[in-house]
Amino acid sequence: MTVSRRDFVKTSVLGAIATAAVSNPKDSVASTIATDQGHASQNDAKRPIIICAHNGYAYVEAAYAFLKSGGDTLEAGVRVVKGPENDPNDDSVGLGGLPNEEGVVELDACCMHGPTRRAGSVGGVRNIKNVSMVAKAVMEHTGHVMLVGEGAERFAAAMGFPRENLLTDRSRKIWMLWKEFNSDRDWWGPGIADPHWQAPAPSSKPQADLLRDRIDQLKQRAVDLGIEQQFLLSAVRRVLFPPTGTIHCSVLNEKGEMSGITTTSGLAFKLPGRCGDSPIIGAGCYTDQDVGSAGATGSGEENIKVAGAHTIVENMRHGMSPQEAGIDALKRIMRNYNGDMNKLRFMDMTYYVLRKDGAYAGVSLWEGYSAGNPHKIVVHDGTLRQVIATPLLKGYSQEWPPFPTIPEELKKDSEYLK
Ligand code: ASP
Repeated sequence: MTVSRRDFVKTSVLGAIATAAVSNPKDSVASTIATDQGHASQNDAKRPIIICAHNGYAYVEAAYAFLKSGGDTLEAGVRVVKGPENDPNDDSVGLGGLPNEEGVVELDACCMHGPTRRAGSVGGVRNIKNVSMVAKAVMEHTGHVMLVGEGAERFAAAMGFPRENLLTDRSRKIWMLWKEFNSDRDWWGPGIADPHWQAPAPSSKPQADLLRDRIDQLKQRAVDLGIEQQFLLSAVRRVLFPPTGTIHCSVLNEKGEMSGITTTSGLAFKLPGRCGDSPIIGAGCYTDQDVGSAGATGSGEENIKVAGAHTIVENMRHGMSPQEAGIDALKRIMRNYNGDMNKLRFMDMTYYVLRKDGAYAGVSLWEGYSAGNPHKIVVHDGTLRQVIATPLLKGYSQEWPPFPTIPEELKKDSEYLK
């Protein structure tokens, strides 16, 4: 690799576009949050309750019924998250997850069981789709907390989990598209956290033209690769905005028992062996039976550095509301960049926060990925619904590689922007 990502962004078309995105960071900076609006306060908190990421919606009703009938909190969480793990069309989790830069799907997961105060975790697992259940098996059937890579896969096989090819044809083609168009624009080189990282230099060419050219090229290549017509824009969007995607679920039953679980295929096109926050107890998930449970989706590297889920639970232990606790963790991410919007625009984070009394909150660094598509969490406390997360910053994040605006036709790709 001769061209580092930093060098690349200084010279590339994408870099030129990105510069425009950050040239007026003031536009996207608003301020902090206001009230607990939409989130259960101490007085109206209900039990039992399940909260999770948006992609768990279809599975929460059944899990809630199981919980109501006396089912275990962690098992209820597994019933939610294994839905997206089994769904080949959810390319952020389990089967069909977008692969690493070598075209191999690698999954991460962790869980905590409040009543027995145990934890389990697996990282970088290949060929096994239900890694949430493998994490639970590590917790239940070993004296360890975390297994990674080949050892985790062998453990899963020993526990009877079937080995299967997790790379669906659609995800393989999107990876091919990414590889062809981004072979010199990958995750190598100093990252955004490097003190010498600079926002990309400007270009004289109008940004809209550059973006249009690039989308047209990508669409043509997607056709050549045999990507179905109805997924063309989804595929293009994934290459332009390598997605993150995960599901976290926190569960509280009537008795006050709690559990949390998080599972993901992680950052699309990551370096092989990269573990994000999702398998890290205390980052992607943390549950303390005495206090509450929290989990995360979003920029894993940033969340690891603030031990997000643990920070949130500790904040609640010291008296903060779920929303205050989550916002404080987001502020720590901001602090790691001294509030530099030129960097913060390239990351995002959503926290799912549940306190032991049933009070909950969803909070996010930015309002969403694009206008009209706010971050949401799913809540079921007798009524299944989606709740808009409270953002710390006003505006929309820019996934890597960055763009100033998302073109209208990509915005209409509702399958992706759900
Ligand atoms: N946090 C996950 C990771 O960094 C990705 C995501 O939540 O979207 O692997």
